[in-house]
Amino acid sequence: MADAESKKKLPRKDLPPDARIETLAVREGLPPTQWNENSEALFLTSSFNHPDAATAAARFANEEEAFVYTRFTNPTTMMFERRLAALEGTEACIATASGMSAILLMIMGLLKAGDHVVCSQSVFGSTITLLGNQFGKFGVETTFVSQTDVQAWRDAVRPNTKLFFAETPSNPLTEVCDIAALAEIAHGCGALLAVDNCFCTPALQKPVDMGADLIIHSGTKYLDGQGRVLAGAVCGPDAIINGPLMTTLRGAGMTLSPFNAWVVLKGLETLSIRMAAQSANALKLAQWLEAQPAVDKVYYPGLPSHPQHALAMKQQNGCGGAVVSFTTRPAKGLVTVSGPAALNEDALRLRQAAFHVIDHTRLCSITSNLGDTKTLITHPSSTSHGRLSEEQRLAAGITQGMIRVAVGLEHIDDLTADLARGLDSLNV
Ligand SMILES: *Cc1c(COP(=O)(O)O)cnc(C)c1O
Repeated sequence: MADAESKKKLPRKDLPPDARIETLAVREGLPPTQWNENSEALFLTSSFNHPDAATAAARFANEEEAFVYTRFTNPTTMMFERRLAALEGTEACIATASGMSAILLMIMGLLKAGDHVVCSQSVFGSTITLLGNQFGKFGVETTFVSQTDVQAWRDAVRPNTKLFFAETPSNPLTEVCDIAALAEIAHGCGALLAVDNCFCTPALQKPVDMGADLIIHSGTKYLDGQGRVLAGAVCGPDAIINGPLMTTLRGAGMTLSPFNAWVVLKGLETLSIRMAAQSANALKLAQWLEAQPAVDKVYYPGLPSHPQHALAMKQQNGCGGAVVSFTTRPAKGLVTVSGPAALNEDALRLRQAAFHVIDHTRLCSITSNLGDTKTLITHPSSTSHGRLSEEQRLAAGITQGMIRVAVGLEHIDDLTADLARGLDSLNV
């Protein structure tokens, strides 16, 4: 096999070495084809031809970097990978079919039976299932700890701990974990720190600058930004991404389709301005919600009332992000208090108030997705967290009165009017 220097590499784009994130987001990728297209081309092809058998052999032996088969290499997908790696500030990136398959790829590629993971208990629900149940079956054990309690992470470490996994801010409570502190503990025990950067994106938060080793993305959310496709990615050092993770992707095939790669690639071009505009809208909405008599509590890292406000502002480029959660006060006057038998009357009154507010919106889309230009509204207790018991939900701080809003690009006055309709007619 050729050594790294003599290996024939694919060309890189000629960009200023100190280009900023906004520039990289529209310019990083691959050089254009012989037709000099200005917008990046979409290569819908499953395989690539070779000029002769010897070249094919060199490419299969990985002596020459070239496009071979779309399960592991495709120019459109590579443009997305190079662009996202540039934004995250990592050496490399590997794209996957969804955010969940990015986590699947990372765990399959890095861990083996007998290894141990320390993970926040507030990560995305499917991540808890994947780590706790699916990988448990294969002998990878996970300890779930408090998102904000640094000592709990330290106490969970075992001699076989190989990976820390965090997601910040968390969903739906927007709890922020201290990335630098977790990196220090992980590195002290020879483990890697992976951070799911879905909520902030590199436009607001760059976990590698705080010591994280691997970055996970659900490209389905803000990277696409318009709710069109599923996509995912793992960003990190070349030795890991193009080492064990590439080997796993080749074998297991959780590949991103070139069409979806093209959609997220173009989505990255507007990422910074979308994140800034949606975060600004979210801050205004959070401030407005805090002043509403029917609102009990607002969860938003951009508010001084948020318990980790200072940490969030330091880690997140001074921005709170675009997800705001809040709790309503219990509905007093509403008559038919009905719902799941497992809920007591107080919980039912809270649930009824939350449903009332959601059902009185006309603009907001009632859906549990996030990261869209359209504002999305959801009731976590009965949807994303519906499979937990009420006890588990309350332990996690998710009450029946909680509503999550993933703020989009509509005018803020139209959004407050949309929520005021339900809040103002709620008899608290
Ligand atoms: C949505 C989401 C995922 C999973 O991504 P998919 O693209 O839906 O597979 C993982 N982590 C976070 C934080 C998410 O919001």
